[in-house]
Amino acid sequence: MKRVGEQARRLQALPAYLFAEIDRLKQEAIAKGADLINLGIGDPDLPTPTHIVRRLAEAAAAPENHRYPSYEGLLSFRQAVAAWYRSRFGVELEAEREVLSLIGSKEGIGHIPLAFVDPGDMVLIPDPGYPVYQAGTVLAGGIPVLMPVVRERAYLPDFDEIPRDTLAAAKMMFINYPNNPTASVAPLDFFQRAVDLAREYGIILCHDAAYSEICFDGYLSPSLLQVQGAKEVAVEFHSLSKTYNMTGWRIGFAVGNTEVLAGLGRVKTNLDSGVFQAVQYAGIAALTGPQDPVEEARLTYQRRRDVLVRGLRALGWEVDVPRASFYVWIPVPKGYTSARFAAILLQQAGIVVTPGNGFGQFGEGFFRVALTVPEARIEEAVYRIGRLCL
Ligand SMILES: *Cc1c(COP(=O)(O)O)cnc(C)c1O
Repeated sequence: MKRVGEQARRLQALPAYLFAEIDRLKQEAIAKGADLINLGIGDPDLPTPTHIVRRLAEAAAAPENHRYPSYEGLLSFRQAVAAWYRSRFGVELEAEREVLSLIGSKEGIGHIPLAFVDPGDMVLIPDPGYPVYQAGTVLAGGIPVLMPVVRERAYLPDFDEIPRDTLAAAKMMFINYPNNPTASVAPLDFFQRAVDLAREYGIILCHDAAYSEICFDGYLSPSLLQVQGAKEVAVEFHSLSKTYNMTGWRIGFAVGNTEVLAGLGRVKTNLDSGVFQAVQYAGIAALTGPQDPVEEARLTYQRRRDVLVRGLRALGWEVDVPRASFYVWIPVPKGYTSARFAAILLQQAGIVVTPGNGFGQFGEGFFRVALTVPEARIEEAVYRIGRLCL
């Protein structure tokens, strides 16, 4: 007999939640009053720049913004996105047809398979990777085909490893640079290879560029749309969340191929009603206003990165120096699994990190540190790790 509360097969098909054990240990430690250093959260601790907050307050007071917004986003917001793309990447976008507002980029990434993936269709997904690529695929009834991204190949998928019939059948591919969780970056020629492959096989290429503005040491991450032919097959997802410390505000956007955006937009008009207009006005202020808070945030994360990397290297650890994102992706010491090591850090040092296997099977053997706490706390974390007997 059917039972109230029994979940649909599509929910049952979602990958297991692998952070339950860490969550339990964290609650235990908190209950005991432990002084936890939480390096597990991919959420900026820095505040939203004040001119953006002020713009929201102003726009929130205007009655015309209290009504349903337009589905595709205010034209002025989409024009601000187009202007930002021109100045940041030298890419021309038609605001009316090549830009779509999103309620955070997670919303668009999660919904896009519903527009193009039929039950049984294959979707190419990086492993380790942001879990939403897989969740959105599975909820649409699609089949995730994992592309390993490993240190030996600079965390870029090896397209030659993918069987031709898989490429011929796949509907969609996700890539993400600067990358969460590995903090790796991709050169433009990799983007060119991805676009060429997608054109050859008729694959929708989705590039998640949530961390495009969090770059260090003068590095500037490119846009996939800088590549020749990209607009024929690709969309790029962006977010104001990480760039402007606006994770709670829920605003992002997708740009690129008009037919792909139209499909995503059609799913959205049937499920949501767009981004609160006051938030869109604040988004315009973010994209068109002074960018020095973005540079300050970069320098802040860069200093934190240096404290962590130098500290761990002084303890004899091998740590790659990331050029972008606010994560550091680190191999666990020999003899430990990701889960075991994360549990030890929590129980014996009061440090929360994210075990790499939570991002996919090829994340096993690593853990992810988020640089979203002040420098002094990172120093304290390094000190505590130094005291551990591993
Ligand atoms: C944080 C994050 C996002 C989404 O952020 P939104 O707040 O939904 O815009 C998308 N992709 C990756 C890889 C992220 O880490």
